[in-house]
Amino acid sequence: MTSRPQRPPQAASVRPQADVTTYRGHVLTPRDDSGWADWHDGRLDVQDGRIVYAGPWTAPGRGSTPHRRFTDLRPHILFPGLVDTHAHVPQLPICGVHPESLLEWLRKWTFPLERRFRGERALTLSRDFMHEMLVQGTTTAALYTSAWPDSVEAGFAAAEEVGIHAWIGPPLMDDGAYRRVTTKRVLDEASALAKLDRPKLRFAVTPRFALSCTRELLEGCGDLARRKNLPIQTHLAEQQAECQAVRERFGQEYLEVYEEAGLVTPRSLFAHSIWLTAREWQHLAPCAIAHCPTSNVFLGSGVMNWQRAQVARVGLGSDVGAGPDLSIFRVARMSWTVHLLDGRAPSPAELLRAATVGGAQALGFDDVGSLEKGKAADFIVLDARQIVPAGAPTAGSTEDLLSRILHRAGRSAVKQVFVSGVLRHERR
Ligand SMILES: [Zn+2]
Repeated sequence: MTSRPQRPPQAASVRPQADVTTYRGHVLTPRDDSGWADWHDGRLDVQDGRIVYAGPWTAPGRGSTPHRRFTDLRPHILFPGLVDTHAHVPQLPICGVHPESLLEWLRKWTFPLERRFRGERALTLSRDFMHEMLVQGTTTAALYTSAWPDSVEAGFAAAEEVGIHAWIGPPLMDDGAYRRVTTKRVLDEASALAKLDRPKLRFAVTPRFALSCTRELLEGCGDLARRKNLPIQTHLAEQQAECQAVRERFGQEYLEVYEEAGLVTPRSLFAHSIWLTAREWQHLAPCAIAHCPTSNVFLGSGVMNWQRAQVARVGLGSDVGAGPDLSIFRVARMSWTVHLLDGRAPSPAELLRAATVGGAQALGFDDVGSLEKGKAADFIVLDARQIVPAGAPTAGSTEDLLSRILHRAGRSAVKQVFVSGVLRHERR
């Protein structure tokens, strides 16, 4: 790490100009609208936690900025912080345990674990979770806590400590729940927790999934989100048996149940979205989808239709604890694999876009997901030696590099993680 130079004393009435830190390295980023920027010798300037310059290397001019620090990261790769659009904070300890089916897995493993996720334990484990997310290179996420209100406060506190952008919400349940509550109490608690909502950390109205909710609760969730202009996250059409159970209970298609409750909006994010009809796909157009292929393979759920999903905004989700870990690189790679076996794989550029700026757009965070002027300086440094094997031709194309990142990047390739310009993790 570079050290901060001593500042000359400032007159009290003059607000000191914030330091600019200049990073030199290989800058690779999707652009907000489309395409990628790839500067082999690139420069990223950060001031007050925001990017003030991203582009090819030029030596900084003298005199214009009095306090400038310089960090040379060559030959490593500066890449946007990853976005995880679906994960459950309490579930990290059950990653990888052998599943039977979704409903059985929830009953046997998930609910007993979540029931104990409260108080000090929730705060400690939330901090552990945020740390592990950063180690994996993720700096923005949509998260479920447990159904206990203090687990939501713990999630907000832990997220704020590391400065990430996030959606956070408790899985709202009034049917088969692991705590005894009335529908009114669930809604009153959610309404009270909505005071935590702020621009970087959104309180998300989170009905767990249709089978955990009465129609009254689903309607109450739609009403709360509308009144307070809150985002909505839930699960949709993950397994066929689940869809069948929804049809039997509600007498409707899955998405129709949510539509009738006012839960299908431009601020809504649906995890999985596998077993959908053509009509349901059409109606998802204004919404966002969290594509969770590692979880879908683990629980034998199926393969989401990548082509059809493009009607909506698509991000990637680890779905920890059904996903094996919090690696969004692994999720992107698994998506490539299942879709290749299914007929046609998305390109590395498409998948890594979904892993970064696509995910940010799914969550409505305009100021993260890519390394562009004006955005928060949320970036990771990828170890070039782990991405590009020794002896490889040096002048590869952007497509080649994206392919290498998709297929080779993982936890150990993440050297450093910056959130709003602050170094939050450094690999030892
Ligand atoms: Zn989930």
